[in-house]
Amino acid sequence: MDADVLIAGGGPVGLYLAAALLQEGVSVKVLEQRRCRNRHSRAIGIHPPALEALAGIDVAAGMVQEGVRIRAGMAVSGGRTVGTMAFDGVSSEFPFVLALPQFRTEELLEERVRALDAGAVIRGAHVTGVTDDGGGVTVAFGSVAGAGQDSSGSVRAALLAVADGARSGLRDALGIPASGRTYPDHYLMGDFDDCTDYGDKAVLFLEPEGIVESFPLPGGVRRWVVRLERPAPPGAVADDLVHLVRRRTGFLPDAATNTMLSSFSVRSTLARRMVAGRAVLLGDAAHEVSPIGGQGMNLGWLDASELVPVICAALEGRPVGRQLREFGKRRMQAAVLARRQAEVNMMLGRPLPAPLLAVRTAAIGAAAALPAVNRWAARRFTMH
Ligand SMILES: Cc1cc2nc3c(=O)[nH]c(=O)nc-3n(C[C@H](O)[C@H](O)[C@H](O)COP(=O)(O)OP(=O)(O)OC[C@H]3O[C@@H](n4cnc5c(N)ncnc54)[C@H](O)[C@@H]3O)c2cc1C
Repeated sequence: MDADVLIAGGGPVGLYLAAALLQEGVSVKVLEQRRCRNRHSRAIGIHPPALEALAGIDVAAGMVQEGVRIRAGMAVSGGRTVGTMAFDGVSSEFPFVLALPQFRTEELLEERVRALDAGAVIRGAHVTGVTDDGGGVTVAFGSVAGAGQDSSGSVRAALLAVADGARSGLRDALGIPASGRTYPDHYLMGDFDDCTDYGDKAVLFLEPEGIVESFPLPGGVRRWVVRLERPAPPGAVADDLVHLVRRRTGFLPDAATNTMLSSFSVRSTLARRMVAGRAVLLGDAAHEVSPIGGQGMNLGWLDASELVPVICAALEGRPVGRQLREFGKRRMQAAVLARRQAEVNMMLGRPLPAPLLAVRTAAIGAAAALPAVNRWAARRFTMH
């Protein structure tokens, strides 16, 4: 065996799992195809249950120091505040949602993995196949083109964790079916210097042409996410987003300060099961949910955190069949719940004619004004 556990994919979920296993004295090899980290920002929101898990591998404190602590969110419509939601009651240790760009989160996770074992992460290794012979798993990988050092070969371990993301090639190679949904929701998003006085608040603008979401980021930056009826044109530029934000909210981000611009359309994919022989799927490879709701990365970390004791027991030779079945059931239920919540979020952000929008907005305001409903929604939003 080259390691106790192989991890295919060194994104946030694979790296978290690696650190958590190394801390338990389990040897790991992480095979990651990218030589360099993708600096394109995807996830920003880290919820309290995930922060508790990250504290367990000693990275939460560094993240909290760098990130923005979002202690409240507000809904605004036509320039009027419809409702507010505070997160201070959801957790005593982390009474906020942390905003930190995903590439920085991944950097901090990889630093932790390398501190525990400098040789654990193999970059430039594209996994091409897997063989499970009942006594172990062998993973074949090729060197990514353009790389200096040749890293092709194969590695063998007792177990395989598959964290290769939403388009998981290994899920297919293991013969695990998955079913997907697409949605009529498309978004254009970008990061700009903050031109609002909302500070550390997240703001949802519920407007007739569709929702605009706005989140604080470290360094006085604010992310704007605008819902569109059709996919953004391939040539969209920062000025297009600025124009949409201005028309719907009245705010005018400075296009010259734009540092990231991206568009995405929403899908969701759920694997039929998470376990196949000696391999376990986790993160987006097991369940991709809409980014609207900001839970995908958090879900993956919670998968990994629940999987660690099962892996440790399996490596000690204890029977784990029942534990694995329960793990898979619980984690897929969590994914279904996150998907449902994201679907509600997307629905509330769709355009409506002004009279209907007024009714919907009034209903949201009335619900937010009820303390019990407000507390319940804050707990659901923060994955409690
Ligand atoms: C716009 C946007 C905003 C989002 N916002 C949030 C948010 O606020 N909060 C949140 O929780 N989630 C959010 N998400 C979702 C989040 O980004 C994902 O859930 C998260 O990245 C999943 O992590 P992962 O490690 O499972 O997969 P990935 O991040 O996709 O990582 C998989 C890794 O595997 C590697 N890989 C793939 N195939 C191979 C192979 N064959 N061999 C070797 N390596 C391979 C890839 O290079 C990659 O590094 C957002 C997503 C988007 C698109």
